[in-house]
Amino acid sequence: MTTTDTRATATVACPFCETLNRVDMARMADRPKCANCGRPILLDRPVAISDAAFDAKQIAQLVPVQRAGTADEVAALVGFLASPEAGYITGQVISINGGMA
Ligand SMILES: [Zn+2]
Repeated sequence: MTTTDTRATATVACPFCETLNRVDMARMADRPKCANCGRPILLDRPVAISDAAFDAKQIAQLVPVQRAGTADEVAALVGFLASPEAGYITGQVISINGGMA
């Protein structure tokens, strides 16, 4: 018998070694550790992001549209939602994530 894993997961780059770790969302509060270096991957402070952490090849593998989003794309959505044309839209969650679930 084959089972399908339907747990929600997130892919998190380790702030120390930049390894991508798949983390079960239900275990996020358990302070998950990096599979490569063993250090915590979720810190209680902001982390500087390097170009290597957002390597284009990694993004292409992770994101269905195969590129990173831009601040302009987020600003365009915010501009639309703040405009009169969006006046009938209420209480919605709109994900700007390139098709990531
Ligand atoms: Zn690591």
